[in-house]
Amino acid sequence: MSPPNAAPASSREHESVALAPPQPSFEVLPAWQDEDPERIRDLQDEIRDLARQKCAIILAHNYQLPRVQEVADSLGDSLALSMTARDASAERIVFCGVHFMAESAKIVNPAKKVLLPNLAAGCALADSISAESLEDWKDRYPGYTVVTYINSSAEVKALSDICCTSANAVSVVRNVPSRRILFTPDKNLGNWVKKQVPEKDIAVYDGCCPTHDVLRSASVEKVKRLLPDAVIIAHPECREDVLEMAQEICSTSGMFDAVKRHPEARTFIVATEWAQVYRLQQVYPEKEFVMADGCIGCRLHCPYMKMIDLPQVKRSLEEDVFEIRVPEAIARGARRALERMLEVPRDR
Ligand code: SF4
Repeated sequence: MSPPNAAPASSREHESVALAPPQPSFEVLPAWQDEDPERIRDLQDEIRDLARQKCAIILAHNYQLPRVQEVADSLGDSLALSMTARDASAERIVFCGVHFMAESAKIVNPAKKVLLPNLAAGCALADSISAESLEDWKDRYPGYTVVTYINSSAEVKALSDICCTSANAVSVVRNVPSRRILFTPDKNLGNWVKKQVPEKDIAVYDGCCPTHDVLRSASVEKVKRLLPDAVIIAHPECREDVLEMAQEICSTSGMFDAVKRHPEARTFIVATEWAQVYRLQQVYPEKEFVMADGCIGCRLHCPYMKMIDLPQVKRSLEEDVFEIRVPEAIARGARRALERMLEVPRDR
């Protein structure tokens, strides 16, 4: 299967082409529909030159558009990118991801100018918890240690004891001294952690990532029937019925190691956002990666992650937009929670 190189179209349009190679479509990117490969390469070269001139580092999440991934100095999951941002010596950090990621970069490295190329790039999961809703849950669970997924606002982090990412959530929960944990905001990740750490009393908030929560086991079973020898790799933001089918459950960066653990397998069914398949295919060209929704990832599509394209990255560098600022009173508490998280190693 060829790697996807553009955002998928509507699910209905592709239902009849299950497992077919992805077709380029730019319909979710009305601001820029230039598909000319030469123009794309020119724009990428301009961005690389600008980044050098402006002493900027470009960080990109694994869910970013492939052509944006190609201009990144560093690619990774939330944990890897937080560490890179913390240690960055460049004057500017251009964060190709979503708002909470750029905000976290600013919090862990406040001396740097952190730019998010499109301020509209939010996160439905982060939006599912506000400072007041966390306060409400804390009132319901007095004395519980609050472990908050990095997919949350700075205000929510500041009210938490420690953050985690999908790469180290189990280790974080095991490592906190308390036996009673309030895990926020992702219920699928929280319930999965709860199973891994049965010795603790874990209350789970009720937020979720719609991009992952939309996937049902029946769709994955349909793909598995067509590819019985394939290994299923799932992100822990997927629902429990999907996770139960998976041989590997890990963060997006963890998926690269997961592939290595199955040298005998040629095909992998991937249950996460579709752009991850592009990265996996780049790293393992001899393997085949198939989206778990039985389509080209049209259901597993994060609209927020696709709000940044090359023109926005270029503008960000040219005009120093959009600068992320976090009031110090909030940043202080959020930094404490993030720095505690960064001390905890990956789950494996
Ligand atoms: S994939 Fe889900 S959790 Fe990640 S940025 Fe998109 S909405 Fe948020």
